[in-house]
Parts: sequence; structure tokens; C-alpha cells
Amino acid sequence: MIQKREDIKDRFVEAFGTEPVVFRAPGRINIIGEHTDYNDGFVLPAAIDLAVYVFIQRSGSDQSKLISIDLDESYFFNIKEALAPVDQGWVNYFLGVIDQLQMAGHQLEGFNLMFTSDIPMGSGLSSSAALECGFGQALIDLFDLNVPKMDLAKMGQAAEHKFAGVKCGIMDQFASCMGKDGHVVRLDCRSLEFEYYPADFKAYDLVLFDSNVKHNLADSQYNIRRAQCEEGVKALQSVNPDITSLREANLEDLAEAQASMEEVVYRRCKYAIEENIRVQTVCEALQAGEIERVGQIMLETHHGLSKDYEVSCKELDTLIEIATNCEGHIGGRMMGGGFGGCTINLIRKDKVDKVISQVVDGYKKALGIDTKVYRVAIADGVGRLK
Ligand code: ADP
Ligand code: MG
Repeated sequence: MIQKREDIKDRFVEAFGTEPVVFRAPGRINIIGEHTDYNDGFVLPAAIDLAVYVFIQRSGSDQSKLISIDLDESYFFNIKEALAPVDQGWVNYFLGVIDQLQMAGHQLEGFNLMFTSDIPMGSGLSSSAALECGFGQALIDLFDLNVPKMDLAKMGQAAEHKFAGVKCGIMDQFASCMGKDGHVVRLDCRSLEFEYYPADFKAYDLVLFDSNVKHNLADSQYNIRRAQCEEGVKALQSVNPDITSLREANLEDLAEAQASMEEVVYRRCKYAIEENIRVQTVCEALQAGEIERVGQIMLETHHGLSKDYEVSCKELDTLIEIATNCEGHIGGRMMGGGFGGCTINLIRKDKVDKVISQVVDGYKKALGIDTKVYRVAIADGVGRLK
């Protein structure tokens, strides 16, 4: 964070003449379970120690003000007037959440708000979901609304769909709302049931390497993958009519249906079915404290995403390849939708510094690109700061 929280408090008091209440909402990582959400499968996210901080207080009128400390921009509006998306991108996450709360029948009054964040924007750590959840929780507390955290997550997702135009799944907002220090959460994307698993990585640290690229293939390829999975489900239904998503299929079903599928559809299905099994295996490995096994399975996921699902890219593959050759690196994979963003890695604590410098240098040498490094720890979900 560029500015200390105490300084922002002072600035708030100076600007508005009232003490703010402060809320924190974290970004998230996903240990395993990639491209499983829209196949009705499982994901295994955790909230992290990078977060958005929201400073808020009632304004005493209908007039409301949003101030982005990091972008040095502000936005005024009247809480009683109709809301629609605006050109200032970041404002939409706020308006979208207000819209959701109002549509659910909650009465809001005017407020003043400042916010800052140390979650990198657009790197796949869900800075956007953290904004929605931090802001939503701030309004819920400030106006004493009865909104459970799971509903807040759904509202954040809907806000992002409607006001930011991003058709995201529920995982990011779910993790920001429901995350728990020392735990990962296994979310069933079909039923939204969830279960916490202990996440003690023992001698290992979580390190993210940002590829610093974002190929614009991501959106079109995402839609193609969804269509291919649907095609796979149709073929699988000829084997077992009860299969309505890849979540319900197993590898035996797939082997039976293989002949009636295009080769590429087969590989997509194979990845999605295997990945769902891997989530389960990682949960068991975490419970047993077998961290090396977790690392190994993450590498299997990367391989599947790269070769079978084909959503990786040269940069992500290079980051994983370099890291894999470093002593102390026990596993890693691309994280997120693909075609850019970060890799997530497990590295032995006493080797972390060395591995980081090897990966940074190696990536620069191989592709001429700088990587950004984020060392993250698992932390609590959204809440008010004392
Ligand atoms: P991600 O959620 O993966 O970080 P997104 O593209 O979904 O990436 O969201 C990033 C957007 O969220 C930014 O373009 C900006 O509009 C908003 N945002 C995130 N963090 C901040 C911040 N600290 N200040 C202002 N806007 C922010
Ligand atoms: Mg986002």
C-alpha cells in the first residue's frame, strides 16, 4: 500500500470532518481447480494477505462521494438517483453493489468513502472482487443491513456482470467473503456448499510469478472451451443419460464415449474430469500434511492446462519450466483462466530467495520480460478492522 492506513484516516477526517470505519477485503489465490467452475465442479481458493481497505462514514445527506486513493480520482453521486454504468471503470464496481443492495430492498443513505488496495490490478488476484466485497460489507455494517456473507458474494458477482460487463463465476467473491486464515475452502460450484481444509504448507511458501502478459485470446478461447465441454457432455449422455455436466462424468464414461467425440473435445473433457479429481486429492493431501504431493498435483494441473486444455501460453510455460528446474521448487501451475496472469508455486522457505532470483533472471533471459513476484500468505475474508 502506497499510503499508510493512519494517514488515510487523517485525510478522511480532514476531508469530511468525521472518523471513518475501516473494512478490509482480501484478494484470493486458487490452489487447484481451474476451469472446473462452469463444469459444475470444485475449486479450492483461499483469501490472501493482500487486500482492499475501505474507509467509510455516513455523509448525513443523499450526497455520496467515492475517492480512489491509488488512482487519485473521485466520483460524486446522489444515492437516491437511478444508477447506470459510467465511463470511470472502477466506479462501476461500487455502483453495481449499491444497485444489488437496493434491488434486494435495502435502504441506503449517503456516505463518503476512500479506498486503497495492495492487490495488483488485473493480475488475477481478484482486486475487483475485493472491491465489491469490501464495499458491500462496509454498507452492510454502516446501515445495519441483514445480508449474510454468502449473499454478499452473490451480489458482488451480479454487480460485476451487470455494471462491469464481466461474466465471472462466483469463486472470487466467495473467497474474498468466506476465506479463513490458515484454511483453503473447497467450493462445490454446483450446490455452493463449501468445506474448509487446513492449509499449513509447513516448510514451503506460496510464491506467485506474474508473467506480465495478457493475450487477448482469453475471452474468445474461454467461450470455445465452454462450448467444447458442452459438446463433450452431449457425447457422454449417449453413454449415461444422467450426465448433465462434466462433474457427473468419470474417466470410464469418457473412455466409452471417446469414439463418438472429436479428439480435441476428448482432451478438454479428460482435463476437466481429471482436474475435479485432483481437487479432491489435494484436499486429502493437505489434511495429511503431504505438501510435496500437493506440489506434484499442481504440476499435473499445469501440464493438463497446457497440453489438454490448451489455455496456457509460452510465457506461463516458461515460468513453470524455469521454476521446476530450481532446487526447492516442489510444484506450481498457471493460475486463472490462462493466456497470461500469474503462476502459483510452492517453494521451500530456505530456498525462496534463490528460486525467485533464478526465475526472475531466467524469464528475462528467455523472453526479455520482467516478472513481478508476490509472496502471499493465507488470511481471513472480509471484515471490519478494529
Ligand atoms: P483482477 O480482478 O484480476 O485484479 P479485473 O480486471 O477484474 O482484474 O479488475 C481490475 C479493475 O478493478 C481495475 O481496472 C479497476 O477498475 C478496479 N480496481 C482494482 N483495484 C483498484 C484500486 N486499487 N483502485 C482503483 N480501482 C481498482
Ligand atoms: Mg476481477
